[in-house]
Amino acid sequence: MKANLHSHSPYCDGKAPMEEMVKGALRKGLKILGISSHAPVPFKNSFSIPGNEQLRQYRKEVRYLQDKYKDQIAIYLSLEIDYIQGMTKDFESFKKEFGLDYTIGSIHLVKGQSNDHLWFIDGPDASNYDRGLRDAFGSDIYTAVSCYYHQINEMITTQKPDMIGHIDKIKMHNHNRYFSEDESWYRQLVDETLDYVKANDCILEVNTRGVYKGRSDSLFPGHMILQKALEQNIPISLNSDAHKPDEMDGYYTEAMRFLKSIGFREMYYYSQGDWKAFALD
Ligand SMILES: [Zn+2]
Ligand SMILES: [Zn+2]
Repeated sequence: MKANLHSHSPYCDGKAPMEEMVKGALRKGLKILGISSHAPVPFKNSFSIPGNEQLRQYRKEVRYLQDKYKDQIAIYLSLEIDYIQGMTKDFESFKKEFGLDYTIGSIHLVKGQSNDHLWFIDGPDASNYDRGLRDAFGSDIYTAVSCYYHQINEMITTQKPDMIGHIDKIKMHNHNRYFSEDESWYRQLVDETLDYVKANDCILEVNTRGVYKGRSDSLFPGHMILQKALEQNIPISLNSDAHKPDEMDGYYTEAMRFLKSIGFREMYYYSQGDWKAFALD
């Protein structure tokens, strides 16, 4: 069973028309496709849906494609929503107002001591990561990474996302320059966050984008976190975070083999109103 619950569209930073993304999913043999553009954030940026008007258009187009391709693939309406304390809109109001099937909660911007500086941890350019770390946190990596994981914890308890997107994306531009994922303080932060994931029944996304884009040596999350998730019986969902049709099943074969090798037997996908387990085969 191939599925992808994390994909983007030109309403945000996606690179191909929505229908081309659907056709890409069909070409790759996917049975479930979730369209999850970046939800609006309350400041100027180049990655999210700008506002509610575009959001309504977005919903309309997803609904149209849902119906047009209903005999070939199940299409679901979602958003990848950022959480920044005191700044972003409640997930529940997006969910209710736009009739989302499920929500993905992801942190791309880490709040520092003041609202003036947000640390942007994503994008292709590592120099933004370095600059943001300096401007928002005075290059104090321990505080910065702690804020990142605490922001996820707070997102989980206050916003109740169905799925946590790319939980350790903070490592992407690190490349062992500022911290090692083996350090005990880092592992402690991860342990604490996984406890929140477990206690709040969230799905843990396994995101292949960093690997097929050549920006990360390992999946989001990597081996250590996946091992802990397995031990805690946290449900996982393999997604590609596609921005182009050909990325629909990017690195899926290798990722599935890897997940099986460390002991996972099933993955969870949203299907017909609920989260269901599918055998990893
Ligand atoms: Zn993301
Ligand atoms: Zn995404």
